[in-house]
Amino acid sequence: MMMVDVKAELCRLGREMLARNLTTGSGGNLSVYDRRQDRVYITPSGLAYMALTADDIVVCDGRGAVVEGARRPSSELGFHLALYHHREDIGAVVHTHSVFATTLACMHREIPPVHYLVGFAGPKVPLAPYATFGTPALARAITDTIGASNAILLANHGLVAIGANLSAAFDVAEEIELVARIYYQTLVAGEPRLLSESQMTEVLEKFKGYGQKT
Ligand code: 13P
Ligand code: ZN
Repeated sequence: MMMVDVKAELCRLGREMLARNLTTGSGGNLSVYDRRQDRVYITPSGLAYMALTADDIVVCDGRGAVVEGARRPSSELGFHLALYHHREDIGAVVHTHSVFATTLACMHREIPPVHYLVGFAGPKVPLAPYATFGTPALARAITDTIGASNAILLANHGLVAIGANLSAAFDVAEEIELVARIYYQTLVAGEPRLLSESQMTEVLEKFKGYGQKT
C-alpha cells in the first residue's frame, strides 16, 4: 500500500469505527507500522474522526519522534510503539472504547471462550490492569499481559486489537466487540456455557485455513 493510501485508510477506518459503534467522537486511535522504513502512521490526538483528513495523520519513527505532520500524535502513541517493539508480527493497532468490551473491562473480567469467534483474539481475551491513559504504565500493563493474543481489554478503559495489517486489526476489534456483547448478555440472562480448551484449540487451527486462499 502506498503511504498516502495508509493515511487515507486510517481516516476511513476511524470513521468506520464510529459507523459501527466501536467508539464515539475522537475516542480510541489507530496506527500502522511500516517496519522496513521504521515509520509509524498514527491518528492525531483529540480530533473527531468525522473531520479527519490525510494531512492530520502523524508520522513518527520507531522511537516516537515526529517526522511528518503538524498535529500532535495520539496520546496512546506509547502503547502503540510498545506493541510494535514487543511483537514482530504486529503491523497495525486499533484501540476502541466499544461499549460491551469496555463494560467487561470495567468489571475487570477477561472474555472467556463463550463463542468460537473469540478465536479472532486467541483462546480468550486477557485483561490488562488499570493504568492512566497515555502513560508508560499503561504501555507496560499491555505488553506484560497480551502474550500471543490479538486483543486485550484495558481495565476501566477499552479494547486494543492488533493485526498484521489495518484491516485485520479492525476485524479483530469488531469481532471481539460482538463476543463481548454475547458474553455480557449471557451473564445477564443466565449462565454462560464455555467452550473447552480442546474445542478452542480446534477452532484456532481451523482459523488458519479459513476464508479464501490468496
Ligand atoms: P487520543 O485522542 O489522544 O488518541 O486519545 C483517545 C484515547 O482513546 C485515549 O486512550
Ligand atoms: Zn482510550
